[in-house]
Amino acid sequence: MEGDLSFWLPTVLVVAAASALTLYSAWNRKGKGRYLCDDCRFNNPDDCLKIERPRAVSCLSYRTLVEAKQLETKTEAKLETNLETTPETKIETK
Ligand code: SF4
Repeated sequence: MEGDLSFWLPTVLVVAAASALTLYSAWNRKGKGRYLCDDCRFNNPDDCLKIERPRAVSCLSYRTLVEAKQLETKTEAKLETNLETTPETKIETK
């Protein structure tokens, strides 16, 4: 009986750890929709010319919409900072 426990306990722990890792990676995978393009920031004909679009399942150019929004926010913040620190320029009109 004691021999059974020393065999099954590590086996159950390994299976439980593998299952937990599988669930974690499935939950945090790229592309929350069916295809990567579903939530890619380039998913429109002007920004992406790849033939895989809109049904790509693997793509090195994939960027999330969240990343795009964060980038826009950072860019706007930088522009506002530059406008505040840049001396005003006058446009002369005749
Ligand atoms: S860059 Fe890749 S993931 Fe994004 S829309 Fe194009 S093919 Fe799809």
